[in-house]
Amino acid sequence: MIYLDNAATTPMREEVIETMHSCMKDVYGNPSSIHQAGRKARVLVERARRIVSKKLNVSPSEIFFTSGGTEANNAILWGCYKDLGKKHFITSPLEHPAVLHSVESIARYHNAGVSLIDIDSKGHVDLEHLEFLLKENPGSVVSLMHANNEIGNLMPMNAVSKLCRQFDALFHSDMVQTMGKLHLDLQALDVDFAVASAHKFHGPKGAGLMFVRKGKSFRPWIMGGGQERNMRAGTENIYGIAGLAKALELAEDTMGMDQEHINNLRGMFLQLVKEKLPDVSFNGDAEGSALNTIVNLSLPEKINSEMLLPNLDIAGFCVSSGSACSSGSTTGSHVLTAMGVSDDRPSLRVSFSRFNTIEEVQNFVEVLRRLCHE
Ligand code: PLP
Repeated sequence: MIYLDNAATTPMREEVIETMHSCMKDVYGNPSSIHQAGRKARVLVERARRIVSKKLNVSPSEIFFTSGGTEANNAILWGCYKDLGKKHFITSPLEHPAVLHSVESIARYHNAGVSLIDIDSKGHVDLEHLEFLLKENPGSVVSLMHANNEIGNLMPMNAVSKLCRQFDALFHSDMVQTMGKLHLDLQALDVDFAVASAHKFHGPKGAGLMFVRKGKSFRPWIMGGGQERNMRAGTENIYGIAGLAKALELAEDTMGMDQEHINNLRGMFLQLVKEKLPDVSFNGDAEGSALNTIVNLSLPEKINSEMLLPNLDIAGFCVSSGSACSSGSTTGSHVLTAMGVSDDRPSLRVSFSRFNTIEEVQNFVEVLRRLCHE
């Protein structure tokens, strides 16, 4: 099997599995218990928080562990509405459903306003339109993802945060695709809220985090006990948290090497596609401002879109037609639709990780070439 669906999820690193395994054997207390077993679990959670906050250049008191990116996005957006008095949300039609459906439901059930920023044909947000929307709605919440999970485009964080400051808006960024792939200094990026998910950077599923800038906290989205300093109730997923911190630590340690390797894979892939598949086109800004791990393609119209993924699967390749949430569905991609990409041609998302090889990329292009010519 050749796994090229790393934007959906990534295989765990051996060291992460070992860390989690040894915690499972040795640490079983509830971090809220005051006895020594509980204290041992508390130490593990707080150590993880310190590691993560140091990597992101924020204070440990600004990091809160969650069950993943979806929960963190929901908690932040609802928190902005319920507790920070925000009644207008500015976002883009290309966001992950965890953001789009949250703001849609806040708007539908609670009478808040939502504005969608225009995007260009390459899938970049129109900053002039953002400025216009902020002028019309100062003090809003701006929610824009750092890298798009379907096309990989990178959002100009600094330009957006500057506009947010200028118009007194709160800036939330879903960084699920970039955390662990790019070095993120959240002070320098000047966001108010950020979100990440461990399984996208070779950590465990069901573990994520939210960064909430000091002074911008809200009541919990999940109600219950006072865990996570009253920001997220429920007994902590201590093994997931330990795995997340280990995965982020490793990602930062090997980031330079991994980026170089993935740049090579991507460069080879783009070159081979251009040479061998002239009737295939790239969606998004594949050769411009994009995260190196994700490439999105439109294939020739004659290809049977329903059979594309099963045929690639039979040939041994795991890729997806869009995001993991919509892979396998025939409804098409909301991202490509918003960019005006015709759905007459089947689309494919190929996403790399540190574990892929040049040979895998070459084999994949060869199989794609055969499929396109059959
Ligand atoms: N945001 C983005 C950009 C994603 O790609 C994903 C995962 O597909 C999520 C949020 C959801 O994260 P999780 O799977 O941790 O809930």
